[in-house]
Amino acid sequence: MARRVLHGIPVAAGVAIGRAYVLDRDWFARAAYHAIPPEAVPQEQARLRQAFASAAAELGRLLAAVPEDLREHAAMVQAHLLLVQDRKLQDQALAAVAEGINAEWALERTLAGVEATFAAVEDDYLRARMQDVRQAAERVLRILVGQAQVASMPQRGVLVAQDLSPADLVEIDFAKVLALATASGGKTSHVGILARSLQIPAVVGIEALDSALAGELVILDGFHGRLLVDPDEDELARATELAARFDEYQAVVLRSCHLPAETRDGFRVQALANIEFFEEVVAVRDLGAEGIGLYRTEYAFMNRATPPDEDELAEQYLDLASLMAPHKVVIRTLDVGADKLVPSLRQGRESNPALGLRAIRYCLRHRDLFRTQLRAILRASVVGNVQLLLPMISGIEELVEAKKFYHRVQQELAAQGIPFREDMPLGIMMEVPSAVMTADVLAQEVDFFSVGTNDLIQYTLGIDRTNKDVSPLYQPLHPAIVRSIKWIVDSGHQAGIEVCVCGELAADPFCVPLLLGMQVDSISLNPRSIPSIKRLVRQMTLEECDALLKQIMSSQSVASNNRLVREMIYRRFPEELLFSVSLLGEEGGTV
Ligand code: PEP
Ligand code: MG
Repeated sequence: MARRVLHGIPVAAGVAIGRAYVLDRDWFARAAYHAIPPEAVPQEQARLRQAFASAAAELGRLLAAVPEDLREHAAMVQAHLLLVQDRKLQDQALAAVAEGINAEWALERTLAGVEATFAAVEDDYLRARMQDVRQAAERVLRILVGQAQVASMPQRGVLVAQDLSPADLVEIDFAKVLALATASGGKTSHVGILARSLQIPAVVGIEALDSALAGELVILDGFHGRLLVDPDEDELARATELAARFDEYQAVVLRSCHLPAETRDGFRVQALANIEFFEEVVAVRDLGAEGIGLYRTEYAFMNRATPPDEDELAEQYLDLASLMAPHKVVIRTLDVGADKLVPSLRQGRESNPALGLRAIRYCLRHRDLFRTQLRAILRASVVGNVQLLLPMISGIEELVEAKKFYHRVQQELAAQGIPFREDMPLGIMMEVPSAVMTADVLAQEVDFFSVGTNDLIQYTLGIDRTNKDVSPLYQPLHPAIVRSIKWIVDSGHQAGIEVCVCGELAADPFCVPLLLGMQVDSISLNPRSIPSIKRLVRQMTLEECDALLKQIMSSQSVASNNRLVREMIYRRFPEELLFSVSLLGEEGGTV
């Protein structure tokens, strides 16, 4: 293939050179219909039976390989195994083959029939089960068309996919993934968040990414958002050198990661970690985090057939609290909805999911689930320093309602003689514009604020954070965003409560000086960015950050804000910039 450069959005730092491995989902198209003559029917049926058996064997192997500490993934694999072993699906497909239809099409037709039955069912939960049936059948279909498994990436390479969902994690062997390239995704979609926490260079939203790339030598440049196909000698040499310099830089940064994030003139900000999986806790400590500022608990509900129960959650939260003690662990209640789908929960289809029954709204609608989680968090509060965080609060009524329910759950525990910390700090995510506008009111009701800039930008600017077409409009330094954060911090401090910033903006070297200027109490970021951000803080002064903030607060456009910040950072920290990935993007972006 001829040399070419594909452009996308850089979301995780690093450079990788390797062969492209395309996660092919187009194989569906190859499952086309063809007629089977009567004499070939037994052979075709044998092929179908064999595919079911191979799928079961594959799932059996996967199940055995799920590590003990990821056992929540096992339940989903188990559910798929039961489905492919279930005779009903197979028998119906075999009967279709007997009518003279090829195995692939027979299976598709059977599936369509099951889907039609499910569609007529009123119950959202049962309808969601259809997803499991489809995924299990797709495995059989994939074997029929001769498509290899994702997990069997033959060697280390650059994984190229149209899309990658959190659920895909179960099958991908990340030890073999040198870098990630996807066609979909925006600046703060979850694939980027994941890539950063796994320290895998990544570019998302790549135009013209297709399966013709399979097997090609590529350079993925996670700093500049480029995928170079069939690079020349010079490009290979430059990429190798850049990768080596990045490794050196990281080693240097890592050595000082346990020093505090304190400016040269003595202003100290706490550097906390955002985590998605319990297993990240070890890395978090090694990377110099002073606590966990955001535990995205919804990930523990994904990839399993049934939600975890109270005992399982309490055990996990307790482990986390004791491993991190005396540091704090901020546990956010379920933030399901929008792009975070949890198959084991009842999530109906919504035409506008980011504005739908998401996060606290979902929990207030499904009180049993909310109660289970609150009880588990309360039970864990007797150890270390656990704090409770409610996502997506949009106004005082919603907050009061959530608190009322929380107090009822506290009373239930007390009546049962189960110990908990009565004054466990309770905070809210500030990520919806209506909450921002009423920050002074909300501050009276909580112990801390945590600013979720990923959603705050999405909702304030009206930009879907996962949509690459509007990605240039996703501007963290839009005056509306800077003013919003400043207002939240000031309102919090006025009321005597602490303010943390936990969106991706807190990991962006261009944005951190402004957060320091505002004197936020803590920042919470993906663990891998902690060492370099702490180092940056140690090289700055509060005085210069304050001066920059003053300039920004009186400026009126994204372009001038980006310019002011860039000038300061380029002048003062050229090295940090070479190796960082920023949300800023092009000057003053428009689509
Ligand atoms: C945010 O919205 O900034 C945030 C931290 O939460 P999430 O990315 O999980 O929505
Ligand atoms: Mg959010």
